[in-house]
Amino acid sequence: MSTKSLKDNNYVCPVCKQSLTHKPHGLFCQKDGVEYPIKNSIVDFVTEDLTKSTSPVLRLVDKLDELAKIYEGPSWYGTMDKLKAELNLPSIQEMATIMTNTVAAKDGLGLDVACGTGFITRSLAQKMRLVYGIDISMGMLGKATEYAQGNGIENICFARANVERLPFPGGVFDGVTCSGALHLFPDTAEALSEMSRVMKSGARLAVQTFVKQGLPTLKMIFERLGASNPFGSAEALEALHLFDVEELDMYLSQTGFRGFEYNIYGPAILFHAEKG
Ligand SMILES: [Zn+2]
Repeated sequence: MSTKSLKDNNYVCPVCKQSLTHKPHGLFCQKDGVEYPIKNSIVDFVTEDLTKSTSPVLRLVDKLDELAKIYEGPSWYGTMDKLKAELNLPSIQEMATIMTNTVAAKDGLGLDVACGTGFITRSLAQKMRLVYGIDISMGMLGKATEYAQGNGIENICFARANVERLPFPGGVFDGVTCSGALHLFPDTAEALSEMSRVMKSGARLAVQTFVKQGLPTLKMIFERLGASNPFGSAEALEALHLFDVEELDMYLSQTGFRGFEYNIYGPAILFHAEKG
């Protein structure tokens, strides 16, 4: 089986989870009568206008598209890494390495949820057979594709999709990562439950998010990032879901995970769990 047909075979309709038919410019769901367009090899599974979403975070999608232009550049990751060094937190590279080593299964299928410009997706791709990166921002996904191609990485597919409606069949992934996004999802349990659905039994999930007691530090980080940070507004800050450990433990057991283990680094928590 060629890489291309393998990649194509893994997508299903995010709504009804039925298989999709190839059209010249998209993937078509016969049951729902919906065509998901393919632009620059990125399948767009998000059919609603997110700028009109009820979620204040999803409404920031335009700002994420803008942020994509400077992400991984000196002004964003540079500032982030300087801040992390000051606060004695792991760097973005260190986080990516920890998460990759936690979930990567040799010859396995990987998924990076809310992949942004694909920093962790690329790291996972070095250890797995094929990796999917999904995000809601086409701007981020465009950059992610550019960076992957620039690095000569061919075993990654990027798609635009909501975490609550992943375009994959159940029980296919050997490892899943989600970095810097769980606190942004409108419904944590729904997001975790959908990630759990697409994972094989025994597969690992690694997540980096933020804890409740980290709010003052997070506010300081957001101030330092200034205008380039789309989450810095009072409304966005209000919408962030910061966690405590017991709460995460509860969500994970409710959504089919076991073996919750975590480390807290300042405002951040890095945890992993296994699909039961
Ligand atoms: Zn469908």
